[in-house]
Order: sequence, then structure tokens, then C-alpha cells
Amino acid sequence: MKKFLILLLSAVLITGTFSACGKSSQTGKLPKIGVCIYKYDDTYISTVRQSLEKLAANKAELLLNDGKGDQGTQNDQVDLLIQKGVDVLMVNIVDVGAAQTIVNKAKAADIPIIFFNREPDTDVIKSYDKAMFVGTNAKDAGVIQGEIIAETWKNGDYDTNGDGKMQYVMFKGEPDNPEAVARTEWSIKSATEKGVKCQELALQVCNWDTELANRAMEAWLSKYGNSIEFVVANNDGMAQGAIAALQAAGYNKGDKNKFIPVVGVDATDAAKDLIAKGYMTGTVLQDGSAMADAIFAIAMNIASGKDRLEGTDYKYDETNVAVRIPYKAYNGK
Ligand code: CA
Repeated sequence: MKKFLILLLSAVLITGTFSACGKSSQTGKLPKIGVCIYKYDDTYISTVRQSLEKLAANKAELLLNDGKGDQGTQNDQVDLLIQKGVDVLMVNIVDVGAAQTIVNKAKAADIPIIFFNREPDTDVIKSYDKAMFVGTNAKDAGVIQGEIIAETWKNGDYDTNGDGKMQYVMFKGEPDNPEAVARTEWSIKSATEKGVKCQELALQVCNWDTELANRAMEAWLSKYGNSIEFVVANNDGMAQGAIAALQAAGYNKGDKNKFIPVVGVDATDAAKDLIAKGYMTGTVLQDGSAMADAIFAIAMNIASGKDRLEGTDYKYDETNVAVRIPYKAYNGK
């Protein structure tokens, strides 16, 4: 009975901690980690958050905050976390342009800060010796996409008009977002380096959004029809929208002779499912649990006064303030 009560109590405490932005519990000496997420409603970031919650069980108190895609909201959340005396801040910033403001707040309070996933300028991070960044290398996802494109192009018979060139359409996430810019550029550069002659038919910024990509693809299909030989999307959300439009036009439903290859990035569950069914070609895995492992290990080191990377396999990149988590190709095989 006593055991049961203790179990129940710890369950209550853990649940309390997880949902707890606000309740500064006095439950012991667990490190307090303030976590600001740019928005909960993002598939990849949700996997990071869930992995963090698992890692923190009985080891740290996570104070989680949903920035809801609004920098003003996130600034207030950072202020509140600082007031609560967190040991470390983890910030998945909404607007990278606001990073200096956040760094200044952390610096004034002498609280170490780990930015993750959305990357501020290196100069901003370097303006505070207790600031760092954990993310991917924006270029990598594009390079891996290019490798998938090259492999698919060589192994398949997708040159519908037989001109030896790959006519493609490109879905771009945001106009100036560094990830979007790098993926757009490097997917094609890396395919080209691998010998694919690429020709862009059209490019559309669709804000990472499935619905917008769906409409753009519909429009392109009626304009270009089967002149489109490849579809490249900066993320799986947009790839998914494109596939829905392709399927509505009779493509990518299992008939190999009516298939236009589509590649995305993120390895979302929806994309994995489409790949398993043979409706999508491949994606690039941004490993959310690997990201959570890294930021949690670093935060725990900081909280116990160790060097940030002590006892880990992580290494700083050439900036000396950033750690990069590698991407992987995913084709379901
Ligand atoms: Ca062609």
C-alpha cells in the first residue's frame, strides 16, 4: 500500500512537472530546465518535446512553454522562466531575428542558454559565453535530398520527354528561412554534382504548408501535365500536399507507369506511410530524439557545473559554439 502511494505520488509529481509552466514546485533538488518551444503544433518539434519529457522523468524539472509562433509571447515566457530561477534555458526561438533580445535577458540573469533547431546568427550566440546552439546543418538535408534524387533518377525511367534532363518543380518553405534557402539550393546542386541534368519548371513558396502546396501542385499539373518529372519539397508537409494533388490527377496511386517521384524532408509519420505504400520516393530524417538526447545531456552537464560537452560524443563545429546533429536519408528500406 505504501509503495502504491509513493508510486501514485511520484506519478502526480511527474505529471505536474510536465504540464507545469507556472507551478514552480519545491519538490527537491532536480535541475530546473526552462524550455521554450516555438510552437507545439509542429510535427518535428513535437517529437523533440516528447523525447525530452521522457528523458527528464525523475531527473529534471522541465518547465515547458508553447510560444504559439509568436515572439512576443515567447519573450514573456523567457522573462517568467528567469524569474523562476531556472538553471538552464532551452530556446527554440520563434523569430531568429529576436535572438539578441533573448540572449541579453539570459546574460543579465547569468543563466546559460541553449538555442536549438532554429538557428540565430553565430555573432549573437558568441555575444554571451554561456550561450550555444544545437541544430542540424541546414545544407545537409538538401545534400541528402539531392542524393535521393540522383539515385532515383538513375534507377528509374522518369525522363518522360526523353530529353535527358530532369524537369522538376520545387516547393520552398519560406523565402528567407535559412533551412528553406539551403534545402532549395543544395538539393539541386547535389543532384547535379551526381550527374543529373536539372531543369526547374516552377518554384513556389508555400510556407511549409500542406494545403498551399496542394493548390500549387494542382495548378502546375494543369499547366505542365506530365512534363513534370520530379517533385522536390523542402518538407514532408508540402510533399504530402503535392502527392494529394498528384493522386487526384491519377498519379502516384500504385501504378509504376503513372508515378512522379516526390521527395521531402522530416520523415513525418504521414510521409513514412506514403513511402511504405509506394506513393512517395523518399525523405530526410531529422532525428527528433537525437536532438532531445543532445540538448538534455548538455543541459544536465550545465546544471551540475560541468563543461557542456563533458562525457558526451558531441563536438563543436567550426564556430565553437554549435553542435550539429546529422540528418539521414529515409526511403523505407
Ligand atoms: Ca526530361
